[in-house]
Amino acid sequence: MQKTSPTVLLVEDNEDNRIVFSTVLQHFGYEVSQAVTGDEGLALAQSNPPDVILMDISVPGIDGFELTRRLRGFQSTASIPIIALTAHALASDKRKAMEAGCDDFLTKPCEPKRVVETVRRWLASGRKATNGNQVPLIP
Ligand code: MN
Repeated sequence: MQKTSPTVLLVEDNEDNRIVFSTVLQHFGYEVSQAVTGDEGLALAQSNPPDVILMDISVPGIDGFELTRRLRGFQSTASIPIIALTAHALASDKRKAMEAGCDDFLTKPCEPKRVVETVRRWLASGRKATNGNQVPLIP
């Protein structure tokens, strides 16, 4: 099946945040799939790898750090841009997210507009994979 719009996997256990972020992303033309737990996120990312992942760190089951580490271990998900979305604003949390394999870090509360801009930037500008390899632009 031909893909018509960029896909975003939103891993977020807070319902309000899920509604706000998915609504604004859909408004801007993204196709959004949603996971409430880390395990759901893992299953969705593997069954249907998205173009970008928005990753809440504090989710039930395996947390966003561990989920990111696992996704980096599978070829099909290893180079998907992962944007951490978390209320943990400490520099150590940011470092931990980056060490786990996240590419970017947004602190909640986060303006929906900023989420969209960050997703768009990762889709549009190419990216450096966490292994240091350059990966192709997503069309
Ligand atoms: Mn959470």
